This record gives sequence, structure tokens and C-alpha cells, in this order.
Amino acid sequence: MIDYQKVLSEITTDCALSVQKGVVATYIPELANVDIDKLGIHLIDSDKNTYSSGDATETFSVQSISKVLTLAQAFGMLGADIWKRVGVEPSGDPFNHLSLLEQENGIPRNPLINAGALVVADILVSQLKNPKQDFLNFVRTLTGDHTINFDHAVANSEERTGFRNYATAYLLKSFGNLENDVTTVLDFYFHQCAIAMSCKQLTQAFYPFMNQGKCLQNRTHLTQQQTKRINSIMLTCGFYDEAGEFAFEVGLPGKSGVGGGIVALLPGKYCVATWAPGLNAKGNSKLGMEVLEKLTTKTGQSIF
Ligand code: GLN
Repeated sequence: MIDYQKVLSEITTDCALSVQKGVVATYIPELANVDIDKLGIHLIDSDKNTYSSGDATETFSVQSISKVLTLAQAFGMLGADIWKRVGVEPSGDPFNHLSLLEQENGIPRNPLINAGALVVADILVSQLKNPKQDFLNFVRTLTGDHTINFDHAVANSEERTGFRNYATAYLLKSFGNLENDVTTVLDFYFHQCAIAMSCKQLTQAFYPFMNQGKCLQNRTHLTQQQTKRINSIMLTCGFYDEAGEFAFEVGLPGKSGVGGGIVALLPGKYCVATWAPGLNAKGNSKLGMEVLEKLTTKTGQSIF
């Protein structure tokens, strides 16, 4: 039996000493204030045992990790029709690039780059009665924790400075792949990204993805097929132009956010989340990737 607690403690002790921590995201001004020395990890296994080390219960901005959760909600509502508006291929480009979108006539490569997430946000704005509140409730129900909330300061900060996202949304609109007003879709998108969660809460929210669609409370939120499809998208697209590197180093499906969080899972075995705010050049948490590489190497467990 693997002693996960021992492994997590060893890894955080090791990684906390690292001097190369990357840089905190500054293009969303509110994120620039986050303490770069934060480091947390939380793991929940299929028997619901939990293991933690470092700042695992402190909340941070989930940012692009939310794209998996909006995808899950939209996929649940629309089924396979969702793939008429967004693809499932890795982009090999940074998360906020526009050139492929222009070349490929407004159909984003996948739902985890910004363009694809904006299409998913548009679908939810069309489908939900009170989009922001209904999505927040979906996340709360998945997690089994009703204290989860938006960080409005972060949402407002991005609303003022997210010019690339405005450009992306207008380009989608020009191709007819956005039903609602650009500002309405962006307001939803900036709020989904600004949800604040801890590593512990993230592992709860992602539990269904490692448990064939069933959450911690044993309710079914996704079909087995849907979790298979979403996990495959996480593996191939979750880290943008670093998806290959993450698969190579870590060997798990996962998703990162510019708040410094990463969630990853080993289907049927465990779900893990890390938080280290310093990012590498690709916008993924530098220490988070190192922590997860050590986890799968030390335990000898990965999907490969
Ligand atoms: N809200 C951020 C953006 O749209 C999310 C990016 C990310 O976490 N990679 O730029």
C-alpha cells in the first residue's frame, strides 16, 4: 500500500526549497498580489481517504480549471451536439491565441483554450436561466460544498483588462459561433474563472471525473462515456502547448489555471490538486507540475 501522506509531505518539503518558482500572472492585475510562496497539495483516493500537505485548504482563483466544469455542465445539457461548435484536437498554441480561430473559420480547436471555453460559456448563457448562479450551484453540488463563491474583485479585474478575450469573442461572433452578446458571454466567462476554491475543494469537484461520473455523495453527474471524453480532452488539451510535456512528465489527465492551480486524476484511483502561484512560460504552475511529476514517479502510478 502506498503511504500517500508520506509521499505528499516529502514532495512539498522538497519543492518548497526550490528557488525557481516561476512568475505570478500579472495580466489580470488582481492575481499579481498573490504570495508566490504558497504551496499546497491535496489528494483523495477512491475509498474517500484524504491526504494533504501545505496550503491545501486556502482558496485561490481557479481560472481555466473552471473550463472543465463548464464543459461538463454544457456537455450534460447538449450531448454530442456540442462538438458542432467546438473541436477536440490539441491546438499546440498558447491558451489565448487567435490565429487558428481565424484560419479555421471560428470553430475553436478544443474547449480548454479560451476560444473554446467562450463557446461553451455562450452555450451555458443560452441554456441556463440564471447563468452565473446556476453554474455556481452546479460547482457547489459537484463539490458538495455550498460555501464556494466568486471572487468579484478578480472578475472585475479581468473585465477591465481582458482585451484578448474581448478580441476572441468578437472573432467568434463574426463567424456566427456566438449566440449571445459579447459582453454577456464575457461577464459569465470572467466570473467562472474567478471562482475561488482550495485544493481540497477542487479534488471534491473533480471526484466524478475519476469515479465514472459519480460524485463524493454518490450522485451521478456525468455518464461514464462523458467522463471518458472529458478526461481525454484534459489529457490532450489541458495544458495548451504544454499538454505533451505534462503527459510526458506526469502521465495523468489534468487541467491548469493561471491562478497557479492544477487538478489531475488517475481514473478509478485518485484525484489530486496542487496550488503554487508561480507560472512557467506557458502559463502553467511551475512547481505544480514538478510536484505532480514527483507524485507519479515516486508512487509508480500513472495512466501509462
Ligand atoms: N481568465 C483567464 C484568461 O482568460 C484564464 C486563463 C488561464 O487560466 N489559462 O485569460
